[in-house]
Amino acid sequence: MITLKINNRTVEVEEGSTILQAAEKLGIFIPTFCHDDYGRMPAKHCSNCTEYGDCKMCSCEVEGEASLLTACNTQAEEGMVVWTESEEVKKARTDILYRMIATHPLDCMNCKKLGDCKLQKYCEMYGVKDPLYEIPFEHREKDLSNRFYYQEMDKCIRCGKCVRTCRELVGIDALVMAQKGSNAYVMPKGGATMAETNCVSCGNCVSVCPVGALMPKSLYDFRQWEVKKVRTTCAYCGVGCQIDFSVKDGKIVDATPAYGPSNQGLLCVKGKFAYDFINHKDRLKYPMIRKNGKLERATWEEALDLVASKIKEVKENYGPDAVAGFSSARTVNEDNYLFQKFIRAAVGTNNVDHCARLCHSSTVSGLATTLGSGAMTNCIAEVKEADVIFITGSNTTETHPVMGMYVRQAHRMGKKIIVADPVRIPLADLADIYLQINPGSSVALSNGMLHVIFEEGLEDKEYIEKHTEGIEQLRECVKKYTPERVAEICGVDKDLIIQAARLYASTHKSYIAYAMGITQHVNGTDNVTSLSNLALVTGNMGKKGSGVNPLRGQNNVQGACDMGALPTDYPAYQKVFNPQVQEKFEKAWGVKLSPDKGYTVTETIPAILEDKVKLLYIMGENPMVSDPDTNHVRHALEKAFVVVQDIFPNETTEYADVVFPSTAFAEKDGTFTNTERRVQRVRQVVPAKGECRDDWWTLMQVMNRIGYSCHYDTVEDVFNEMRTVTPSYAGITYEKIEKAGVQWPCPTEDHPGTPILHVNGPGRAGGGLLKALEWQPSPDLGDPEYPMTLTSCRILYHYHTRTQTDKVPAIHFTAPRNWIELHPDDAKELGVQEGDWVKVSSKRGSIYVEARIVDTLQPKVAWMPFHYAEGANVLADSSHLDPVSKIPGFKQIGIRIEKVSAQKAKELTAQAQNDAIEYYENEDPKIIRYEEKEVEDLISARKEG
Ligand code: SF4
Repeated sequence: MITLKINNRTVEVEEGSTILQAAEKLGIFIPTFCHDDYGRMPAKHCSNCTEYGDCKMCSCEVEGEASLLTACNTQAEEGMVVWTESEEVKKARTDILYRMIATHPLDCMNCKKLGDCKLQKYCEMYGVKDPLYEIPFEHREKDLSNRFYYQEMDKCIRCGKCVRTCRELVGIDALVMAQKGSNAYVMPKGGATMAETNCVSCGNCVSVCPVGALMPKSLYDFRQWEVKKVRTTCAYCGVGCQIDFSVKDGKIVDATPAYGPSNQGLLCVKGKFAYDFINHKDRLKYPMIRKNGKLERATWEEALDLVASKIKEVKENYGPDAVAGFSSARTVNEDNYLFQKFIRAAVGTNNVDHCARLCHSSTVSGLATTLGSGAMTNCIAEVKEADVIFITGSNTTETHPVMGMYVRQAHRMGKKIIVADPVRIPLADLADIYLQINPGSSVALSNGMLHVIFEEGLEDKEYIEKHTEGIEQLRECVKKYTPERVAEICGVDKDLIIQAARLYASTHKSYIAYAMGITQHVNGTDNVTSLSNLALVTGNMGKKGSGVNPLRGQNNVQGACDMGALPTDYPAYQKVFNPQVQEKFEKAWGVKLSPDKGYTVTETIPAILEDKVKLLYIMGENPMVSDPDTNHVRHALEKAFVVVQDIFPNETTEYADVVFPSTAFAEKDGTFTNTERRVQRVRQVVPAKGECRDDWWTLMQVMNRIGYSCHYDTVEDVFNEMRTVTPSYAGITYEKIEKAGVQWPCPTEDHPGTPILHVNGPGRAGGGLLKALEWQPSPDLGDPEYPMTLTSCRILYHYHTRTQTDKVPAIHFTAPRNWIELHPDDAKELGVQEGDWVKVSSKRGSIYVEARIVDTLQPKVAWMPFHYAEGANVLADSSHLDPVSKIPGFKQIGIRIEKVSAQKAKELTAQAQNDAIEYYENEDPKIIRYEEKEVEDLISARKEG
């Protein structure tokens, strides 16, 4: 420790602390512009370079020093005597401020940053009013080209924080500081406007700008003193970023990143800018009942009574197993807990599942079998502490954007990266080894890497001996997966396989991150298991910066699984067919429970078509877009009595018999569990709309009406009941997670939570299971009628089936409709050019989409985003499922592509233009404040005939 004096007060700080940190410890304020409050970007003052923090606003007087020293990057020393507000310091700061305002428009009353501007605040503090002198500077036009924010460079104070944030934290490097001195300014890198750069619109530059030079294209006018801030958890992906929402007059008017353990003060475009769907006019605002084929407004009493009577009728006539329910990875843990309790205890069946079946059920089945727990073994941010990062089947920068930023940060730190993916994802450009494998060849790749590891003696013999079983069978199995054979299966150079194996096995800090490119296959469980084989054989388990880390897609998919929204599992993966577990839940819930495994999502749809299920209750899911083989789903929904709880009308409510309006994430309290098992608070930020009610409340009403008596006053009551039957959540309370979330398992209230699993060896009884696996080709491929392979993925801008993100105009116009990506050779063979319409067919159906020609795919492999109705899931196969997890093979669909006729193309173009105009005209004109030039041109062209 070091002792120093600041303003005549003594303080003790750790060695290596800066003067600024020492002052903060004493509660002494030192003004800063370019300093990063979270310490993520160490100050690098440099007189030759304006990009690296050169504001000098934190200059202080240090006794014995000839000149002032900057507090943010000067280390505190033993016996140092510092003065933070001496006359010399004040003069220096005043000079800096005068220099800044000499080139800054002093139009504060009209600036949207008023009240939140550091320049304004410091000028007030140091009595700086009018400019003392004028410095000639070049006026710059506002850059409005980005859909989400604008730049007003006349207001830039040249602190360089945005440039550094984009480069060092986000890893995109879309900004650069041009020129020097008073003419220095921030400019787009690689283009004339921001729209021409590789900007990903994450808005982190906007969040760190201390003045009004970078501002959100906010739909609302507000001043800082008019808003209250409420912290909650982002509802758009499994990273679980913490957000501070600003609320004025009951509406969210702004979002800023908070410093949560998983997001470290960063957000992506959705967290930062895509919140206004909450106020969208299309929100469901009252219950509806289908009458004469149309959904009509009903009272809550009518709708609840009808649903209850239907459930009772179906139970009486066909038994409880004729009812099934889809719970939701979008909503809070409490809703999910109550949903599965409703289906199990009140209805009497285990027919409860949710869309994790379609994304990561193979993770749960794979990792639970081999390790004893089907969840991320390590933390998200730990990826920066790994020596080697192996990313496979995850387009991380698109689907888990803040995690993608960490991988970019790790790359800047010199960490090694291996990417294996059929699509040349953006992170492949940073990779030391990139394997462009054929879709569905992951088991072969892992086996090939294991073959090399065993051949070269790179395995961790001690770890294998102490913590695993099944090594001999695995060793025997991978003998035949020589690099030559695997190279043929995977379609990559054998040397790359050898190099990847050596690099992965070279350290005990190799971190595997994977997502649906691994799980969404008919052998998804084997794909997952093959990755756990790799980690166990090399001892990359139970240590910081290692492990097997499934990146769960939706915001609460981990929580929905933990809560038992699965047909085989009560909360915390306690099996329904285990008599002791059944007895425990019967005692807790006071009813007899079914010991029979229920239908999965993918089994429910056929069960409806086979007349086994008569009533489907859906909470917050949209199977008409998310489930495979849309036509098949449509027939089932037409047949069953369908109840939907949701926040928007969507493709599924079109088939609903009763619709209940729900609250959106920012209108409710509760908890989400992010992909690293961290249970975090979700807080009500704004009041519920119309007659919308929380999902748990609606479920409680239905449960009571069908004869299962239950009462909860608050959502916290539901949480507290849940933790009495959920051992891994038992020690988590709302109070405990008030400030920061806790990672399960957390068995007791004094337990701190568990950031890393399997520290003392895999939790599975008997140790980590090494499984001998054989590579299997996909059953949907190989038909000459459908000679190409379609793979799909999420994109950065949309969330799941777009019910929320498509209501945000800036998002909608960024990705308004579906498309397909093709290799140039395939495009040539098909006679297709960029932007042409094509017909894509599989054995299940056909769709029409625009073609884009890319250099990120191998020939005969096509790619499509997942999110659109009349999209990839019309083509997907629901008849072949992974035998263990029942997940379909979304990532390998056999397709045929044909160029459409000129007449058909004309009709499709006209339809697309109509859709664009309709969207534009249907929006509140206040909402579309920044005109969509393309659509405006279309409208004027139409007016002109
Ligand atoms: Fe964070 Fe994911 Fe939300 Fe983006 S979508 S802000 S990465 S939680």
